[in-house]
Amino acid sequence: MSIRKIITPDNPILLQKARRVQEFDGKLHRLLDDMVETMLDAPGVGLAAPQVAVSQRVLVVRLPDDEEAREEYGTDAGVLYEVINPEIIRRSHEMVDGVEACLSIPGYFGTVERHESIIIRAQDRHGKEIRIKPGGWLARVFQHEIDHLDGILYTERASDVWKAGERPPSAEDGETIVSGNVQQHLD
Ligand code: ZN
Repeated sequence: MSIRKIITPDNPILLQKARRVQEFDGKLHRLLDDMVETMLDAPGVGLAAPQVAVSQRVLVVRLPDDEEAREEYGTDAGVLYEVINPEIIRRSHEMVDGVEACLSIPGYFGTVERHESIIIRAQDRHGKEIRIKPGGWLARVFQHEIDHLDGILYTERASDVWKAGERPPSAEDGETIVSGNVQQHLD
């Protein structure tokens, strides 16, 4: 396994629609292993193949599993998802705002509205069909990563984007935004 370089939007691969995976072979398995190692090293909670300059419909997701994460995410904490050719086949009507960041856009945050829960049809590393039914923060991570497979960055969907250490444009004085594992006090 090895850690791959995470690219930024100056590399056009990040803005392309990625191709469906056809071959569930050793090359795919190496890509998945490297993506997991790269995600954990960053550290991040999700990584899509275009972020390591591979234009294929592959993503990995893993929420942390420390004590705080277990309290916040319950049984979603620490579960590793390796997801090939995902399609969102159902979306909740309920939408929620949350604060996102992206390993490909370091040093920024943004508020993004996402579906509260979704159902995903996908394949595992061997090509077997799987269903994933994430809700809450996990559903947000999956929507962010699936967007990467279509060349879409969260900043295109965000109602506001701000630099780390600065306050969101829409924040009220003294407001504290607490969302998932991103906590930002806004003074
Ligand atoms: Zn991202």
